[in-house]
Amino acid sequence: GKRDEAEQTIFDKIVAKSIPSQVVFEDDKVLVFKDINPQAPTHLLVIPKRRETLSQLRFATAEHEGILGHMLAVVAKVASEEGLGDYRLVVNDGRGAGQEVFHLHMHVLAGRPLTWPPG
Ligand code: 5GP
Repeated sequence: GKRDEAEQTIFDKIVAKSIPSQVVFEDDKVLVFKDINPQAPTHLLVIPKRRETLSQLRFATAEHEGILGHMLAVVAKVASEEGLGDYRLVVNDGRGAGQEVFHLHMHVLAGRPLTWPPG
């Protein structure tokens, strides 16, 4: 399927800074930036810079435990440093789950009451 192809996504351009984004945190492995269409007062996206390591996958395999663990540690650090308080962490995996950009990303939502289950 489409997601198995190593296509460039909008997030590759954001990583390359060829299109602008509001960066909240960055290191050699990940980028955290503000979602362009925020669904809460705080809506951040956490992405691995090297998408190709995940491009063949629906989500991830054991070899990606390192980057996935790092992404979670970055979420916790950013949540603390940005004073997010209560927050929700979301991965939409597949079109039926709402995924539109096929470059692994975690959504961080905060700043309003969040109901469960989501829509
Ligand atoms: P998905 O639906 O794939 O889980 O999430 C993709 C997210 O990327 C959406 O929340 C959408 O608003 C965000 N997004 C799409 N294009 C851009 C962009 O060019 N810049 C930023 N900052 N966010 C984007």
